[in-house]
Amino acid sequence: MIVIERIKAQLAAHDAVLIAHYYTDPAIQALAEATGGCVADSLEMARFGRDAKAQTLIVAGVRFMGETAKILSPHKRVLMADLEATCSLDLSCPIDEFSNFCDQHPDRTVVVYANTSAAVKARADYVVTSAIGVDIVRMLHQQGHAIIWGPDRHLGAYIKAQTGADMLLWQGHCIVHDEFKAFELQALKAQHPNAKVLVHPESSEAVILEADIVGSTSQLIAAAKQLQAPTLIVATDQGIFYKLSQAVPDKTLIIAPTAGNSATCKSCALCPWMAMNTLEKIEAALTDFKHEIMVDPMIAQQAKRGIDRMLDFAEQRKVNLQVQGDTQKYTALFNHVGPA
Ligand code: SF4
Repeated sequence: MIVIERIKAQLAAHDAVLIAHYYTDPAIQALAEATGGCVADSLEMARFGRDAKAQTLIVAGVRFMGETAKILSPHKRVLMADLEATCSLDLSCPIDEFSNFCDQHPDRTVVVYANTSAAVKARADYVVTSAIGVDIVRMLHQQGHAIIWGPDRHLGAYIKAQTGADMLLWQGHCIVHDEFKAFELQALKAQHPNAKVLVHPESSEAVILEADIVGSTSQLIAAAKQLQAPTLIVATDQGIFYKLSQAVPDKTLIIAPTAGNSATCKSCALCPWMAMNTLEKIEAALTDFKHEIMVDPMIAQQAKRGIDRMLDFAEQRKVNLQVQGDTQKYTALFNHVGPA
């Protein structure tokens, strides 16, 4: 029996469901789809896991995704393909240093990106994803809050520019999105004058300035469907091409350049930690329930507060927009954020 068939049998035997991120290997994403699991961004992964009937969740992604799934599903068993699969944003924001930073600015509201440890989430007032960060910070800004933002400096700068909020930025970065090169992207655009450029806001400001669409993974997929352009240049992890190809099979997809005179190219648009997820490791995790994610219940309870605020905000905004008849604009966002 090949590994895919063995995993299918294990999922059924153990009342388990496979939840995969857009950046994982296409074979893993296809298996999640074929077995009633999901392929999504980090928040939708957690929400799907929370609402799934299955009592065991196997998460193909990176560690903070497993932790978030456990925080929202404390009574379920949450397994990961590889517990060592982490994220440069999570690594760049150790709880002790970040907490000291927050302590130095006690009047500021702490907003953190989902790509953080459970302990950092527990220190925050709000947890946000890239899909909803602008809206939540705008709301806080309008209410008079000054903000501490962590950990991604590029996403923080983008949100600051979009909202005009008073934000102190932690200086973390994603090693994948940091590698896209603006100068080389300009040259690629010149070669493809009819192309549109899709950029994830973890990229640098110079790259974002070249974009036609800036958004989260789910927002970029939604935008790809709406754009009329025959060619799309994409600045995010290449793993997204699996779902993008399904969404727009007739369009030509080109990865944005990571190589250039200033390149160090640690990743070449492929996250090395996402790549640690393999079918063989998924099978091993399901075989003896190793690689189980555990989160201290006290930390989980505190972390859930900031996540729930985001989910409540999203649900409320959805209701407001429905009243205003403006849901179209936010389709990508609300496809992937549900009530707490
Ligand atoms: S692509 Fe970047 S933000 Fe996403 S998991 Fe990898 S290092 Fe973290």
